[in-house]
Amino acid sequence: MKHHILVVEDEAKLAQFIKLELEYEGYEVTVHHDGLEGLATAREKNPDLILLDWMLPGVSGVEICHRLRQTGDKVPIILLTAKDEISDRVAGLDAGADDYIVKPFSIEELLARIRANLRRNQEEDSNLLQFTDLRLDRSSREVYRGSRRIELTAKEFDLLEYLISHPRQVLTRDQILERVWGYDFMGDSNIIEVYVRYLRLKLEANNESRLIQTVRSVGYVMREDK
Ligand code: CA
Repeated sequence: MKHHILVVEDEAKLAQFIKLELEYEGYEVTVHHDGLEGLATAREKNPDLILLDWMLPGVSGVEICHRLRQTGDKVPIILLTAKDEISDRVAGLDAGADDYIVKPFSIEELLARIRANLRRNQEEDSNLLQFTDLRLDRSSREVYRGSRRIELTAKEFDLLEYLISHPRQVLTRDQILERVWGYDFMGDSNIIEVYVRYLRLKLEANNESRLIQTVRSVGYVMREDK
């Protein structure tokens, strides 16, 4: 799938040059010369990355940064700044930009920064696991069913994380014990049933559909009710 890059730059020649180079590299590119239009596209199209000029007609680059971050938008933003705007660069990073690049820049440098920022964003995304309306965030250890936040104990979380990271794959009781409780677990293996029951109570507290299914005499699987 092509990454979509939004370029907001009022120097038309530079914007066109960047567009052609990025398209040549296989990116899908949208260009705006005006800050307000750029902001609108950022919100409507959810680009994978934004190249943002500092001085723009309409709304400034820093203001666009501010507004996107205010609404929780985490899209990677690279600021394009002129050499003599060092204090502006600091303000830009304060405003939530991820990176900046100083004009004039080489296209190789720009491409390298774009790749690095896209990669970083993908790594963060890999912390988010989703199965139907169930979401689990490995980094914050938060779990949501739809918009409902679910509080889990540490072991409940570990068990759910193991199940949700292997969707539709039957996990045997031995696999679950080893992975969630550890190889040297000496306690009662009914512990899995007990924790699955806790999880189901919490995940189905509002009468939601069952997501953790029992596979008799084998183990468990995360899949939707048939
Ligand atoms: Ca400008």
